[in-house]
Parts: sequence; structure tokens; C-alpha cells
Amino acid sequence: MDITTLAVHAGEREKAGEFVPVSTPIHNSTTFLYEQVERTDRIAGGEETGYMYTRYANPTVAALERAMLALETVGSGGGEAACFAYGSGMAAIHAAILAAGLRQGDRVLCSSEVYGSTVSLLMNVLAPLGLELLLARPSAAPEWEAALARQPRLVIVEAISNPLLRVVDLRATAAAARAAGAKLMVDTTFASPILCRPLALGADYSVHSTTKFIAGHGDAMGGVVTAAAEEAPALYGLRKLAGGVLGPFEAWLTLRGIKTLPLRVRRQCESALHMARALESWPQIERVHYPGLAAHSDHAVAAAQFGGLFGGVLAFEIRGARRADILAFMNRLRLCLCGTSLGDVQSLLLYPVMASHRDLSPAQRERIGIRENLVRLSVGLEDPGDLLADLKQALPRA
Ligand SMILES: *Cc1c(COP(=O)(O)O)cnc(C)c1O
Repeated sequence: MDITTLAVHAGEREKAGEFVPVSTPIHNSTTFLYEQVERTDRIAGGEETGYMYTRYANPTVAALERAMLALETVGSGGGEAACFAYGSGMAAIHAAILAAGLRQGDRVLCSSEVYGSTVSLLMNVLAPLGLELLLARPSAAPEWEAALARQPRLVIVEAISNPLLRVVDLRATAAAARAAGAKLMVDTTFASPILCRPLALGADYSVHSTTKFIAGHGDAMGGVVTAAAEEAPALYGLRKLAGGVLGPFEAWLTLRGIKTLPLRVRRQCESALHMARALESWPQIERVHYPGLAAHSDHAVAAAQFGGLFGGVLAFEIRGARRADILAFMNRLRLCLCGTSLGDVQSLLLYPVMASHRDLSPAQRERIGIRENLVRLSVGLEDPGDLLADLKQALPRA
């Protein structure tokens, strides 16, 4: 079935006693009871599936996991897979790294273009425990190949990077990782399952911060990991022990968000492309970064990989603007909200120098192409003409 149909129905309508609810209820219960304790005994022993304690499994969270599994495996040829939800995107990334079964001294190759907290988790938490971290740019072939030659056990990339929207060729990256003996984790947050399903392209783990496009309304944190079924015991066992579970209310909000995910993402992609093309022609804009533009370095890869969509996030550089000019521009915005998240129904504008890339020195930022005049815009569901008018009235006068 098409992903649009699955988004509406997948995961729902588990029978609860006499009736079938149209919408999965919020099961706000820590503990679940059965008439006969023998049943609880079999569930505890893993001979039967069921619910006992919400840190192990919860029916509302399980409904979300079934829905995400359905979306993440569209077109993967029916291979057996499993999906687990966590309390945030970072908890999901942490779980997938641990599930990869790394041992002291093992190397992890991480794209230097990934979300800053992912690098910090590896550098500040996992490296001191004995993992060796290799950072390289997947877009720089010699650098990436040299790092792969050092035989990492796990490779981490993002489908679409932040904030320059670089696109990784996932099929080629998965094949190269496999040839080097490594597992591949893809952070698919910026792409959403509407643009790409990494397991079908050869990845071992697809991770989402569901806080972004999937929940989509700026009201629920969460994360998911989808992987081959043989990874399920490690992912399940680690969640049970580390305890980074998703709450039933957040699971319910996220499941509700999924119903409109295909519609929202398509509209956000259309609006972002329309706006990127318009901004390209404005004299105050020095450069627009959007993989849907022919001028973007990864346009061809994105066009081949994402089914004709290019994502709901774009970035642009304001000609001659310094930090104070950007802050003044942000203060003049009336419609776009200046917030750090993305993928929501509301358009959100972020200044990397102030937020995501604040801790880097100007020289480090310059090296990775993040200039002082760069802003990122996550395009929401507003009319794109209204959004462009808001940007226009806030831009510095020529
Ligand atoms: C937001 C984000 C994360 C972290 O997710 P949280 O839900 O905030 O923990 C990880 N990766 C990417 C690409 C993100 O945008």
C-alpha cells in the first residue's frame, strides 16, 4: 500500500476486550494485570507477548512503533524489521550506537556534518569509555575512504545534513560501509520516511528524532530506531535497562502526527522549493542552499534518491550581513518563529552561529562552510507567499 494510506491506518485498532477503538487510547498505566498470573509469568519469560510494565512495553507506544515500522519498510521488499521508540531523538541515537555491539577500542566513523549533539555524545560520553571516534566528510571522497580504511565497526551519517542540506548517497555509503565490515546508521530526521527509507538502501539502522517532522506540531519529543529483526533483542534489551522510554501521551501525539505526515511533508517540500527559487533571485540574498536547486552540489543525488522531493528545510546567506544585522532581521520577522526546532507546522528560523554551531570558533565554522550571514528556515504549512512577504519586510534595505 502507498505510504499515504499506511500513515492513516498503520498501528491502529488493536482489539481491547469487547470493542475496537478507532483511535488507540492513551494507556496511562505503569503496570498491566491479567486474570491469571500464569499469563504474566509467560509474558515475563518471553513465551508470550503482552504488557507488564511500561518501561518494557506499553500499548500506545507499541501502536506508534507498528506505524513507524510500516512507514520505514515501504518498498524494502518485505524484509523482517523491528522498530522501537525512545524518549527523544538523542535517546534513539544512543540506543542504536549501543545496539551495534561495539567493544573497547572499536572505531566509529561519524560524518562531521551530523547534528552537533550526536558528535558530542560520541566525543564526550562514548570516547572516554574506550571507543575511538573518526570524523570525516562523506562529501570529500578521499577523506571518507581513508577513514573507512581504518576499519570502523559503525558508520554514522545523516540523509540530509544541517544546516547546508548536503545529501549523502545512501546506497553507495551502505555498500562501502559493508565492504569495510561496518554497520551503517542513518539519521533520517531531515528527510522523513516520505523522502527516504534507509533500510531498503542497505542501512542497518534508521533513526528519527520524531520531535521534528513526524510529530510535526512542536508539542512532543521522541525518537525511533528501525532495524532488521535480528537487532530487536539488543534494541529492546537496552531500552529496558537504560530506560529511555517514550511516554504514552507523547506516543499518542506522535501517532496522531503521522496521519498527516505525507500531506504535510509534500506541502513543505513544495513550499520550500518555491521559496528557494524566489529567494535565489532577490538582490539581498547572496546564496540559497537547497538540494532542489540545480546549483546545489548534491542536486543529482537528491533527485535520484528522494522521489522528486527535496525536503522542507532551506538555508540562505544574506548579502553583507554581520551577526548584529542577522539578529535585527530576526527581530523584525512577524510570521516566521525564531526557534531551534524544525519540521513543524509553524515555520521556524534558526541562526546557526547563535544556536547549533555556537560553540565553534569563527575559523572552524568557516572551514565547514557556515558563514556569519547564514540562516536556516524550516518551512511550515503557512502560505509560501505570506512567508516570502515576511522575509522581504524583515530583510535589511539594500
Ligand atoms: C533534533 C535532532 C536530533 C535530536 O533529537 P531530539 O528529539 O532533540 O533529542 C538528532 N538528529 C537530528 C538530525 C535532529 O534534527
